[in-house]
Amino acid sequence: MSDIAMKQTPAALEVKDLSICFDVSAPWLNRVIERKPRQLLHAVNDISFSVPQGGCLSLVGESGCGKSTVARLVTGLYRPSNGEIRFAPSKSGAPLSAHMIFQDPYASLNPRWRVHSIIAEPLRELKLRKTETEINDRVEELLKIVGLAPSDGKKFPHEFSGGQRQRISIARALAGEPEFLVCDEPTSALDVSVQAQILNLMRRLQDELGLTFLFISHDMSVVRHMSDRIAVMYLGRIVEEADTETLFADPKHPYTRLLLETIPNIAEPHRDRVVGGGEVPSPLKPPSGCTFHPRCAFADSRCSATKPEMKAYDDGSRVACHRIGEI
Ligand code: SF4
Repeated sequence: MSDIAMKQTPAALEVKDLSICFDVSAPWLNRVIERKPRQLLHAVNDISFSVPQGGCLSLVGESGCGKSTVARLVTGLYRPSNGEIRFAPSKSGAPLSAHMIFQDPYASLNPRWRVHSIIAEPLRELKLRKTETEINDRVEELLKIVGLAPSDGKKFPHEFSGGQRQRISIARALAGEPEFLVCDEPTSALDVSVQAQILNLMRRLQDELGLTFLFISHDMSVVRHMSDRIAVMYLGRIVEEADTETLFADPKHPYTRLLLETIPNIAEPHRDRVVGGGEVPSPLKPPSGCTFHPRCAFADSRCSATKPEMKAYDDGSRVACHRIGEI
């Protein structure tokens, strides 16, 4: 979907000023004896974004940046401490809700259930098919849609490879007839060759079924393949958001530039794929001002003193950095 089309398309999801804070304090008695204060972890801090209908917005960042927490907030697994999550009405007029595809296809499927029962469960729970014949027909259809054989329904999850299990997870998510899918690192547990097959399957299903995706990944090459728009997260905040083409052609935030350096390059096959600039600081003690300043090559005195505000630019991007235009 082009950036102009994205701007004109109504939002399937609007997230405004979303925050969540976890109390990770030691038990009360330990705190009293050891004279320790309460400890609060601000996992997601005041983030806003929207996902247009039929589009794909990716949240990208290193582990611990809060992107998977956003996925759990959007799907209702966590309750926000602050802010709003608003879905547009679904095509049927009922409130739209998000279905999730999890990272680990080994842990997300019940090992004691046959694949047929796993995929049939949402059909039964949501009363989407009435008779057993209708349920069986729909399970077979879903298996075919994700590239498996109807006879695979008789098998258990352990009889499949990682990529095939992720196909089963996708079929189970599709069984609920979703319009909005939250995909939390859906290919990071898979081999590279299988990753491409699953990503291509998801793109095809998005086009054919008109699905909207919120896609979570730490891998810039994966989000480039999947997304119309990308939001880069660092320590619980969005630091840059832009359409995919603009972000890759003209990354503005120093952290986005660091992430882009981790993409494999055929001209430099031995280049380190670890994000440079040191370790991510603890979210329990985030640095002052711009939380990226201890790792930033461009930091000056303003950066450790004042938190940069998010500003919009003419190319449609939004960036939070004091030094845009200078670096
Ligand atoms: Fe770097 Fe300063 Fe920009 Fe933060 S505000 S990214 S420390 S230049």
